[in-house]
Amino acid sequence: MSKELPTLIEPVRLAFQGEQLKGKVSLKPMSRLHDSLCEVEGEVDIDWLFTTDDKQRPTLIGRVQTQLKMLCQRCLQPIKWPIDAQVALVILKKGQTEDELPDGFEALTLTSAQVSLITLIENELILALPIVAKHTTCPSNEYQLAENFNKDLTYQNNPFHVLSELKSHD
Ligand SMILES: [Zn+2]
Repeated sequence: MSKELPTLIEPVRLAFQGEQLKGKVSLKPMSRLHDSLCEVEGEVDIDWLFTTDDKQRPTLIGRVQTQLKMLCQRCLQPIKWPIDAQVALVILKKGQTEDELPDGFEALTLTSAQVSLITLIENELILALPIVAKHTTCPSNEYQLAENFNKDLTYQNNPFHVLSELKSHD
């Protein structure tokens, strides 16, 4: 059973307590993401474990999964873009620097002890966004093909066809 996710979290405290956050959040409040989307409906699944690494540093590991509705940059039709991103962060306090991060880990520098969970999730989604969202095969191309095909069928009603027939009688 997944419990309600908190709005504000204290990542460092959660890490030393070894807490897991698992559940769904809405895409709606993630306004920085909205520019990239053509529809803001939808939910994000997270499964995050706050823990410590072998150097006793607070870390966050887990996944962010969702399906975003974006605009295909080729045909400008909506495209469903699945996101399944790994999250691996070493949590640093403001002003703290860490030169040696474990392999595959990024630094998450907190501006305060308490941060918005939505903001953290939104950050991870923004990092996971494609540079250019494109269909493998654009549906509009198929649509255009179908349109041309229909034109062929209505060829008899085409005024230019009539003109060309008149010309051929000269
Ligand atoms: Zn497309």
